[in-house]
Amino acid sequence: MTNERTGLPASGKLYVVATPIGNLGDLSARARDTLASCSLIAAEDTRHTGVLLKAFGIATPQLSLHDHNEARRAIEIIARLREGISIALVSDAGTPLISDPGFELIRQVAAAGFDIIAVPGPCAAIAALSIAGLPTDRFCFEGFLPARSAARRQRLRSLAPDARTLVIYESPHRVRDTLEDCVAVFGESRAAAIVREATKLHETTYRGSLEELLLQSQSNPDLSRGEIVLIVGGAQSPACDTDLETAGLDNVLKVLLAELPLKQAAHLAAQITGARDNEAYKRALFLKQ
Ligand code: SAM
Repeated sequence: MTNERTGLPASGKLYVVATPIGNLGDLSARARDTLASCSLIAAEDTRHTGVLLKAFGIATPQLSLHDHNEARRAIEIIARLREGISIALVSDAGTPLISDPGFELIRQVAAAGFDIIAVPGPCAAIAALSIAGLPTDRFCFEGFLPARSAARRQRLRSLAPDARTLVIYESPHRVRDTLEDCVAVFGESRAAAIVREATKLHETTYRGSLEELLLQSQSNPDLSRGEIVLIVGGAQSPACDTDLETAGLDNVLKVLLAELPLKQAAHLAAQITGARDNEAYKRALFLKQ
């Protein structure tokens, strides 16, 4: 590792430090030591991180680093690393860069040749996945889905054939709408879980089919409060040749429907896949819904 300007070994290090997602007891001993021994902490919100630092008697100065100033801050931070000081990056909660700022900083610091060290710890996605009761061997982290229903359904449609478990961050006031969209696109019987307020006093996990969770969200006001991770089981693999053919037809239709009117997309999809015209038309209507 060399300093790109001097060609000498880069000295300062950037530590990416995970912080608690609700329970202060989850700050690791190593995270605490790192935050106390660095010369500077780059924090998403300095007031928020100030509360954490105060609770642990840490007096390290802070610098704000958020979505709106990250590119500029990265230049400043690289200049400080060149001076040889070590800096920690934290977000408001959990692991930085996981639906949180930090990507641009890491990209620039890595390009400048400085060491970047992970101090791992809490992450809501992983915490929720570990208790949801759904397959964990392969999963897909989707972060936040689009806020508008049309765009959200489009994203969900692209995920519908995915066999991996889906991990989604959602705001509590949108969870009901998102569950409605999930039922519409994935079907009512897919297994799912909602992990609410993980590691906090009112931590609750709801497990069931998408339809059961939707009903729960309509009747239980708790589900529209607090922080939420939604986990959705992956698509079952097609059971027979007919299912495989339908999956192939659907894939072709999805591409064509994005570009062409429905009738034309259905006709072309039928020619490409060998499906009957009326079958392709019916699937196109279904996918378009
Ligand atoms: N970087 C964080 C991490 O490592 O999990 C995620 C930050 S993202 C801006 C915030 C979202 O994470 C929330 O809207 C919620 O979906 C999820 N989240 C954070 N803390 C949570 C908790 N204690 N319980 C459930 N979900 C949580």
